[in-house]
Amino acid sequence: MVCKISLFNLNLLPKSLKNQIKTLILRKKYLLDKEKLLYRQVRLSFREKLVRIFFGLVLSLVLATFYGIGFKNLFGSPKEKMLEAQVEELRYKYSLLVEDFNIIDKSLVGIVGAEDNIFRPVLDMETLTESFRQTGAGGSKKYEELEGYENSAIMISATRYLDELIRRTYVQSKSFEEIIPVAEDWKNRIEHIPYIRPVNVTIPLGDGIKFRNHPVLGISRWHYGQDFSAPPGTKVYATGSGLITKAAWTPYGFGNRVEINHGYGFKTIYGHLSGFNVETGQEVQRGDLIGLSGSTGVSSGPHLHYEIHYNGKVQNPLYFFDDNITMTEYNSMINALICDTLR
Ligand SMILES: [Zn+2]
Repeated sequence: MVCKISLFNLNLLPKSLKNQIKTLILRKKYLLDKEKLLYRQVRLSFREKLVRIFFGLVLSLVLATFYGIGFKNLFGSPKEKMLEAQVEELRYKYSLLVEDFNIIDKSLVGIVGAEDNIFRPVLDMETLTESFRQTGAGGSKKYEELEGYENSAIMISATRYLDELIRRTYVQSKSFEEIIPVAEDWKNRIEHIPYIRPVNVTIPLGDGIKFRNHPVLGISRWHYGQDFSAPPGTKVYATGSGLITKAAWTPYGFGNRVEINHGYGFKTIYGHLSGFNVETGQEVQRGDLIGLSGSTGVSSGPHLHYEIHYNGKVQNPLYFFDDNITMTEYNSMINALICDTLR
């Protein structure tokens, strides 16, 4: 008969003997030889040992598998938990990116609106066509590479949005490349065109452009400028930026005169001066002091004679006053023009 010795049956033995038997019995099995009343160790054959080891391994494997599946289903593996956290974090970061894209989008819309309604109309440029605005728009195979993931939808959507913003920004930069030189040219043009009154005196003015009886010569002929009644020594300013092409006494009526070539087809003449503050060949800016008014040349009294020429033709200077003019002065100018027209 084969039997196992239970540890509980040893409790009544002395402690030292009990420990020896425990050590012995826990590791080995014994048979009781009833005839000799001795325990004999049971030795397993090699085959039996292999079978036991095999079944032990199978049992361990089955238990481990069930344990693993159960734990995984209930709680997930640590790696899965970490990956899920990373996916959630990426999803959140994508949502933040899309919010930033929306801000950039609104800014771009504002820039396009300013360009269409302000920049191009002011610069006399045509508005960009819709087909130009859509330059580079279209699908891309790179979005296909983002398919098949858990978050494919948000990844493709955000990437497509970013690409669209980049495309629109590029188109806008190309548009600005076209606008900037035109704007710089306009800025230069505005600085050079005669724009202000040459002397700081108030209107009413002297004679304008008209066919008149000359006050000194006593003959009828055209008066091609605008006269400004001004005391001798009144400061005379350049009405636009340009190059001094003459600063000298000249015959034929104007006495001491200054001429400025403003470019863009414009030239101004300042006559009857008492003195000069510039020399021929000098560059001046609008508002620079160029001389003092007087009554040199053929003149009936102290005043400034001022002419504007555009592409060789005389212009009425009153059309080029756009500085701080008052309503009274404006009405006076209009009346003067009406009188000139009637004459
Ligand atoms: Zn005059």
